[in-house]
Amino acid sequence: MVILKFGGTSVGSAERMKALVKLVSGPERKIVVLSAMSGTTNTLVSICTELYNKQPLKAGEIIDQLEVKYKEEINSLYSSDTFKRKGEDLIKNHFNYLRSFTLDMFTVNEEKAILAQGELLSTAMFHYHLEEIGINSALLPALNFMRIDENDEPQLNYIEKNLDAEIAKHSSINLFITQGYICRNSFGEIDNLKRGGSDYTASIVGAAIHAKEVQIWTDIDGMHNNDPRIVSKTHPIHELSFDEAAELAYFGAKILHPTCILPAQKRNIPVLLKNTMQPEARGTRISNIEASEGLKAVAAKDGICAINIRSDRMLLAHGFLRAVFEIFERYKTSIDMITTSEIAVSLTIDNTKHLPEITKELEEFANVAIDMEQTIICIVGNLPKNKSGYGFKVLEALKDIPLRMVSYGGSANNISVLVNSVHKREALIALNKGLFGYL
Ligand code: ADP
Ligand code: ASP
Ligand code: MG
Repeated sequence: MVILKFGGTSVGSAERMKALVKLVSGPERKIVVLSAMSGTTNTLVSICTELYNKQPLKAGEIIDQLEVKYKEEINSLYSSDTFKRKGEDLIKNHFNYLRSFTLDMFTVNEEKAILAQGELLSTAMFHYHLEEIGINSALLPALNFMRIDENDEPQLNYIEKNLDAEIAKHSSINLFITQGYICRNSFGEIDNLKRGGSDYTASIVGAAIHAKEVQIWTDIDGMHNNDPRIVSKTHPIHELSFDEAAELAYFGAKILHPTCILPAQKRNIPVLLKNTMQPEARGTRISNIEASEGLKAVAAKDGICAINIRSDRMLLAHGFLRAVFEIFERYKTSIDMITTSEIAVSLTIDNTKHLPEITKELEEFANVAIDMEQTIICIVGNLPKNKSGYGFKVLEALKDIPLRMVSYGGSANNISVLVNSVHKREALIALNKGLFGYL
């Protein structure tokens, strides 16, 4: 079995959906994971924002506009009257459901139900399209098998068992379609795997069924050496190790959801990144290869908060770091980067939900200084410990940029620096020149 995941642009219009057919055809058994059509989840988020702000009329207007777009897509996706009608009924059901939220109280549970509509719509639309053109397929409802626990971690045993049961209902079918992104939480409520989560769905599903390969189809020909939204010249990297790809995804390469490599890596399932608009391009293969040596790519993660914790008592004091880490642990706040000196430690977090409580507890034994709006720039590759020059190259490239933190040696796969977000762009451009020779 192989998993093919198509992102928002790959299902972004009726034309794009039709173009997927040749990529999903063929005798090999496969599960196709679809995102919502591009722009839909953002629009659903803005509907929720209006409802949180007690603006049901504005929310209603956005719903109406989105429905118009979907009606147009339905009209060009199907050719027969029967399927046009089926499509219209589908749209009507989902949009009437969305409208029902404008009439009542609005809480986080309603928000999650709203955010789920994009993937429910795209998969149902594609399923009907296959049916209309005579291709046999089955829809596997993600809400029947995809589940996260109270720490938002996928419950792999549960997923395996329930996904197998869903697949077993269709023994003669080779082509399955399911929703990316959406799941249930430990209370059984509708939830999601966070923005960009369809990649994560694909990898979890791949792990659950021991797939041969997970393919992530998107709008670019694989993982590039730098963020193509920021620097003008980049190139695709054809091979990456799981560790290298996981670092890039976690530290901001938007092409992959931050944690989506892990499930595939655990079961040693190769992940292929491919371009839907250019299927013949080689893309990127992520696997357990012995990574070739060298610096390969950079990525940037915004919205970082740096915390400097300074205490004279840190000098030679064992137990100091434990006391610091325990506070973060208690507030379930993970630390990304850390640097130490004799009397101070600097660390970064991206989840600032509990920052006031954390700061208060730290201040009981240390002086605390906070810097918001920082960016981690992560330089990834295979950098053996016994080789010289990599640190020099990175710092030389960044010589004109103020560095708030530098971290090297945590693994053989990355060098990370923290800069104020105002310097992110120049830092990525400088690295593109210094490391990859692009002017
Ligand atoms: P999808 O909707 O298919 O999930 P995304 O928008 O989430 O697609 O991810 C693809 C986008 O990721 C690309 O269009 C590109 O702009 C962006 N991106 C950021 N960093 C990288 C990178 N290092 N390599 C490739 N793409 C990247
Ligand atoms: N539709 C969701 C989002 O836009 C999930 C995804 O596309 O991966 O975040
Ligand atoms: Mg994505």
